[in-house]
Amino acid sequence: MPRENVPLASLTTLRVGGPARFVHTGDSMESIKAAAAHSRSCGLSLYPLGQGSNVLAGDAPIDVVILKMETNELTFKPDSDFVEVIADAGVSWERLVQECTEQGLWGVENLAGIPGTAGAAPVQNIGAYGAELADTFAWLECYDTATDMLMRLDAEGCAFGYRESRFKHEPNLIITRIALRLARTSTPKTSYADLQKLMDAGELLNTPQKIADAVRRVRRVKFPDLTQEGTAGSFFKNPTITANAYEELQAKYPALQGFAAPSGIKIPLAWILDHVLGLRGYREGRAHLFQNQPLVLVTENNATAQDVEMLANNVSEKVFAATNILIEREVRSLK
Ligand code: NAP
Repeated sequence: MPRENVPLASLTTLRVGGPARFVHTGDSMESIKAAAAHSRSCGLSLYPLGQGSNVLAGDAPIDVVILKMETNELTFKPDSDFVEVIADAGVSWERLVQECTEQGLWGVENLAGIPGTAGAAPVQNIGAYGAELADTFAWLECYDTATDMLMRLDAEGCAFGYRESRFKHEPNLIITRIALRLARTSTPKTSYADLQKLMDAGELLNTPQKIADAVRRVRRVKFPDLTQEGTAGSFFKNPTITANAYEELQAKYPALQGFAAPSGIKIPLAWILDHVLGLRGYREGRAHLFQNQPLVLVTENNATAQDVEMLANNVSEKVFAATNILIEREVRSLK
């Protein structure tokens, strides 16, 4: 039986959001299909939720059927130099990283410490410190609520981009399992400054486990403690701009770094928020930008979605006024 009128503040890491009409637990294919049938019969959309770590829910009651994914099988299939890792959508991403790195498998170590579930990972093609899910992705299985069919998709079928995939645009596709192909031997990806600094200080980052531990330590400083405050991690995407636009900005701000990306030059938004706009700690109501990393939005006790909207909109306007860049949210809205 679904639960009724459950506050989304209790189901999301930003800890804001009004009541969702129905909440189903998806702990088997049968329960996932039952939730989809219920959403069809009551004419409400079905919204899959993992740990709710990338969702901003509105304050008003939301007419939606939430499907809280709680399937939890994680299996390892050895195949010569690789191991295929198959995770149910509800498996915690951090558990997956931990078990893979403990076995010495390469490919997800730079993605340690990201809150969320395995099933949510492909939605925004999670990435960090020079690695992204798409690098090791093999296939996923998803349930199409429109056709009542299970489908298997490879990377091409998922249309991965920078923090992007088709699942952001096709809410009828509910990811039920993912599979990664992880190597037994590989080369560490340690080009990011945060990891370089640790190596310069004498740390040996030569195993998946050591890298994962290092990434967790770096993240602990840059992200607030989820047991104390609400957050969805980086609230905005780092923007990619044209080479010309970058040249113009760099003429004004010589210390602004730029990194070649497929569609232009990617720039660190946190640097602009900090050095151009002085927005560390900037607040609206009970929401503020984190002191240690201003790309991270933090909610305090009793914050509302309206606080978050005001803060985020003001930040977007300030960035646009100063740089002409229209920034995009990484966090998804549910209203
Ligand atoms: P950061 O490492 O200071 O990087 C800021 C920006 O510069 C990002 O756009 C990053 O690209 C780029 N960058 C930095 N060093 C680079 C290099 N050596 N080569 C190419 N690009 C480089 O950012 P941060 O905010 O502290 O976050 C650390 C990492 O965690 C970043 O990779 C960030 O994207 C990631 N992160 C991911 C999520 C998520 O998936 N939801 C949430 C929060 C943070 P990239 O963005 O391509 O790395």
